[in-house]
Amino acid sequence: MAMIYCRECGAKHSDRAKACPKCGYQANNTDKSMVVYVLLAFLLGTWGVHKFYAGRSGEGIAMLLMGTIGWLLIIPGIAVCIWALVDLIVGIVNINDPKKIFK
Ligand SMILES: [Zn+2]
Repeated sequence: MAMIYCRECGAKHSDRAKACPKCGYQANNTDKSMVVYVLLAFLLGTWGVHKFYAGRSGEGIAMLLMGTIGWLLIIPGIAVCIWALVDLIVGIVNINDPKKIFK
């Protein structure tokens, strides 16, 4: 265990704490990689694979349905392509800020 300083308020707390006890700031303690997230969004984005990776299963299921049977109605298929593209851009913009992406 090590003591770290909160990035938000500067209070000293354990690096194992999920959030700063003083201000509640959630430290960035995920093992997940933003690079993997961006690659998944790029390669498999229309099936929502990056959403499942980020722990957002609900959105992942929605994208998976839109990216598969959604193509039968054309519009959901096109919409999920735009959604995946937006996720890709948001992922690249926040590549150093995974707490915005991962649940
Ligand atoms: Zn704090």
